[in-house]
Amino acid sequence: MSDHVKDEAVAQQAEHASLAQRAAEHRRAGEPAAETEPIFEARDVTVFYGDHRAVTDISVKLRKNQITALIGPSGCGKSTFIRCLNRMNDLIPTARVEGQIIYHEQNLYDSKIDPVQVRKRIGMVFQKPNPFPKSIYDNIAFGPRVMGMKGDMDEIVEGALKRAALWDDVKDRLKTNAFGMSGGQQQRLCIARALATEPDVLLMDEPCSALDPISTGRIEDLMLELKKNYSIVIVTHNMQQAARVSDMTAFFTVELDAGEKHRTGRVVEYAATDKIFTNPDDKRTEDYVTGKVG
Ligand code: ADP
Repeated sequence: MSDHVKDEAVAQQAEHASLAQRAAEHRRAGEPAAETEPIFEARDVTVFYGDHRAVTDISVKLRKNQITALIGPSGCGKSTFIRCLNRMNDLIPTARVEGQIIYHEQNLYDSKIDPVQVRKRIGMVFQKPNPFPKSIYDNIAFGPRVMGMKGDMDEIVEGALKRAALWDDVKDRLKTNAFGMSGGQQQRLCIARALATEPDVLLMDEPCSALDPISTGRIEDLMLELKKNYSIVIVTHNMQQAARVSDMTAFFTVELDAGEKHRTGRVVEYAATDKIFTNPDDKRTEDYVTGKVG
């Protein structure tokens, strides 16, 4: 690595560390208010795959302009639950969702709700960046075109790329293929693509697990910036990440119920992130966040 690249990397890490520290200080100072209005209210949500009850009885309120982290061991249902929030489980033929998810005062699972419209308002970003094999421009324009959004497409594309902190990197090569970008840039492109349809929620399922630490830091900085205007839910297996960026944390576990042959995931504890990491109520949460079990 050249000295210049090293200096830049060190500077970025320092900038990221100070942003994350400021976020933690804000939380300790009681900001943002824990009482922002709920954007989602899950009421007794249970999800089956065939006859396997994968998660059970999830009742949580996820609040506006906050970052909510879902943590817990593999297989405890974090991805299953986050997919409920934009009806992605509808695409899995064996999946069945019981209970209610209230979003803007409507049950997302009401028969009158159009899942395509839901996914426009509730964007999703996945573990592996998955740009389309198209130009950077067309990746962003795809959703607005499909949705028939009105307005100047150049402005829509520029706005989404700016909000994802990617505009300066790509403004001179909008017509080049998205596959030519680095992994971290591709993930920010996927975030920009999700933002282009004007959602109010961003769901992120392990968005950094395929990225190096510097790209991860950039995505975390972006999340802290985006929460001013969006509500974010993130699944992460990286506890430091949850501690750095989130306001609220839900800790899931997976246990074998008496008389059941499959293990079922559930939320053990849901509270402000600082409480979950420093003074949790439940021994299972404490064992997990201190690394005694995993
Ligand atoms: P996590 O994200 O916490 O690792 P998942 O939501 O992926 O957990 O999985 C929870 C449970 O649901 C696991 O037992 C897993 O095998 C099961 N599961 C997840 N997706 C599917 C699917 N598409 N079909 C059947 N079972 C699934």
